[in-house]
Amino acid sequence: MVLKPVAVWIEKERLNGNIVRCLTIILRSRGCYWNRCLMCGYKKDTSKDVTLKDLIDQFNFALKRLSGVDVVKIFTSGSFFDSKEIPKEFRSFVYDALTGKIRKLIVESRPEFINEETAEELSSLEFETEVGIGLETADDFIREHCINKGFSFEDFKRSAKILKSHCVKVKAYILLKPPFLSEGEAIRDAIRSIKAVKGLADVVSVNPTNVQSGTYVEKLWFKGLYRPPWLWSAVEVLRNAEIDAICDPVAYGKARGPHNCGRCDRDVARAIREYSLTQDASVFDGLNCSCFKLWERVVELEDYSRIPLALIHV
Ligand SMILES: [Zn+2]
Repeated sequence: MVLKPVAVWIEKERLNGNIVRCLTIILRSRGCYWNRCLMCGYKKDTSKDVTLKDLIDQFNFALKRLSGVDVVKIFTSGSFFDSKEIPKEFRSFVYDALTGKIRKLIVESRPEFINEETAEELSSLEFETEVGIGLETADDFIREHCINKGFSFEDFKRSAKILKSHCVKVKAYILLKPPFLSEGEAIRDAIRSIKAVKGLADVVSVNPTNVQSGTYVEKLWFKGLYRPPWLWSAVEVLRNAEIDAICDPVAYGKARGPHNCGRCDRDVARAIREYSLTQDASVFDGLNCSCFKLWERVVELEDYSRIPLALIHV
């Protein structure tokens, strides 16, 4: 049987200041060996018995849409360089298939799989490469106790330096609003984290938490002890980002995703996506909604309430 990818789609992507076509491929793999992060529900996209042939079949299926594409993103719900999850033979197959056809390849990995060997694997390719690392926050306490990520800022730093020394680009994922943080703490943590990765990462991807099935965050959410961040918070973080920052507010406007009042969500999410492509903060200037004032109050008061305020659409 031919296994198909979890998802394949074409989207716009920023490449050296231009907007180009990007093919994003989510492969079903054995999944992330760590699998303990409190907000992560990607286990549902994995299967323990995925073989090398299955990976190749999925990739070949996605390649049918390669025409006119400049950037390819391959995500596995785990680590591209964990050879137990993604065999080296598969990685070589990918590199060969893309050589001469694209300008940039983006993959993801936890820092423990990044070393001289993997960095050389990427730097030997003729196209540009980038590795996304789920740092989530520069704060070790929050990363350990509110996310259960299992690595330190030093680990991130080490892997980012190795990649940079081989001219491989680094993208740091910053989680906007890990559980147990107030809205204001979440904003401040994300802004501080972006500042901390300046010089280590080429770009940050600000990822507003969404409530995924079967996660610890979902348990909190069911009890009214967690609310995904406001879209206004994402805007605030992007406005204060000192390096290139992108944000795709997955599930925006839904109770499980980042949301405002329900009336302005679409416009604010559109501006966030526009900013991601242009890095032009003026896209936020026209945004206006009566819920902005409520958000300001929430940011102020949640530091004291310690439980989410304005849980429902108002
Ligand atoms: Zn609103």
